[in-house]
Amino acid sequence: MNPLSPPKNRYDVLVLGAGVTGLALARILSARGNSVCLMDDYASPGGNHISWTLEGMSFDVGAIFFWSDNPLFELFPGLARRCLDVRFDAQRITPDGAVRAYPFDMRAEVLDRPLRYRLRVARELAAARLRPMDRRSAEGFLRRHLGPTLTRDSGILNYMQRFYGLAPGEISFAFAESRMRWVSSRASLRARLQAPLQALLRAASRRRAARGPAPRCLVRPPEGFAAFYAEAVAGLEAAGVRTVLDAGLHGARRHADGFEVTSAAGTFSAARLISTIPMLHTANLLEIPVAAPPVSRRLTTLCCRFSGQRGFTAPVLYNFHAEGAWKRLTMQSDFYGTPGAAEYFSLEVCADGAPGAPAERGEAGPGALFAEFARTARAAGLFTGDLTLLASHDTEFAYPVYDHSAAHRRDALAARLGAEGVELAGRQGLFQYIPSSALAVRLAEAGLA
Ligand SMILES: Cc1cc2nc3c(=O)[nH]c(=O)nc-3n(C[C@H](O)[C@H](O)[C@H](O)COP(=O)(O)OP(=O)(O)OC[C@H]3O[C@@H](n4cnc5c(N)ncnc54)[C@H](O)[C@@H]3O)c2cc1C
Repeated sequence: MNPLSPPKNRYDVLVLGAGVTGLALARILSARGNSVCLMDDYASPGGNHISWTLEGMSFDVGAIFFWSDNPLFELFPGLARRCLDVRFDAQRITPDGAVRAYPFDMRAEVLDRPLRYRLRVARELAAARLRPMDRRSAEGFLRRHLGPTLTRDSGILNYMQRFYGLAPGEISFAFAESRMRWVSSRASLRARLQAPLQALLRAASRRRAARGPAPRCLVRPPEGFAAFYAEAVAGLEAAGVRTVLDAGLHGARRHADGFEVTSAAGTFSAARLISTIPMLHTANLLEIPVAAPPVSRRLTTLCCRFSGQRGFTAPVLYNFHAEGAWKRLTMQSDFYGTPGAAEYFSLEVCADGAPGAPAERGEAGPGALFAEFARTARAAGLFTGDLTLLASHDTEFAYPVYDHSAAHRRDALAARLGAEGVELAGRQGLFQYIPSSALAVRLAEAGLA
């Protein structure tokens, strides 16, 4: 053996997790001249972007959207071509059972109502602005920007409780302020006064779009996410990145030259270890005891078939109603066609902590979640006809929970892992709020800068 050749399985950087964050990190680090090994316990790349096929239709854990200006497509140029161009549209069901625009339309939802209602909302909004903001929780943030009547009637309290598994009073104010700007921007007086100006700007931007391409909405290819991200992995391997999927990670330890990671696929070492897998898993690999890890919610995805009449038109429907543990419904067949006469959709259900969820009543399980969905959806007129549950899928660590102690728990664990020299990134790897793959890539890039 040539004594100068690097030892087998020795790299400059080991990246744990081949989700969007890990793929982006591997691409950037390798382009900067590092030897990189990307490892994941999952058998397919793409992290929690997971699809599977039933009755000829591909279903997903969650949403399937990308915008064409997503930096992921700059790192992996072949991927955008595989996607389908679609028109993005989403609606929500409100507490009064109406199907309206998502997230909400301040003008339409206030101006459509009687004068007395409009005056009450105006009075409440003016009063909320005169009072000091209640900074104890996300509820204070909502009441400040929407006032009590709109906070109640929009259904946003129901939706937040479903999404985050906590009542808005238990969600941190800092989280709402930094991550729910869509509420404040749509609700502000300035925004409403600026509406005519914005209409002009939109017209100008449409004219610009006629000259140059505006970002397009895309969905993953019909065959699902696995083939899509396999192309990214093929690109990485062509650039010299080693990828180890289905790795069976056992442990990690620091040594004089960096890190050693043991797995069913062998032992790997590197000067740097970057982890994008859930923080708790990283700590477990390093045998670091964690008394109070940050908490995440499990997501149950129900794959459903439907034939009959729909009471909504958009391919995505959010649940702002008081009933039902489901939070979002995506009509896969609106994008990928209808094999046979049926339509297909997936339902995202965060049963833990959702208001009135069957699990709370001691009836856990996908059958109970589906029965509850079918009952409430029929009552609300969303579906008239045959509804069938085909399969379900559970995703642990799907949604970080931003309660009042979340930032403290996250920072304490990140500091402990950082003291070991481990670098952290990603939605669960650093317990960051990352609602889109575009942001996952930007944060991965920024973290390396
Ligand atoms: C259900 C869901 C759907 C989403 N859909 C979209 C979308 O359509 N478009 C979009 O732009 N963004 C979407 N997002 C946002 C998403 O967070 C980012 O786009 C991006 O995928 C985050 O990538 P990541 O690599 O940081 O984390 P992840 O992909 O979540 O995970 C990275 C790695 O951590 C490990 N890991 C994660 N969870 C577990 C677990 N439970 N058990 C063991 N190991 C685990 C795996 O090794 C995984 O590869 C979605 C998020 C969720 C939760």
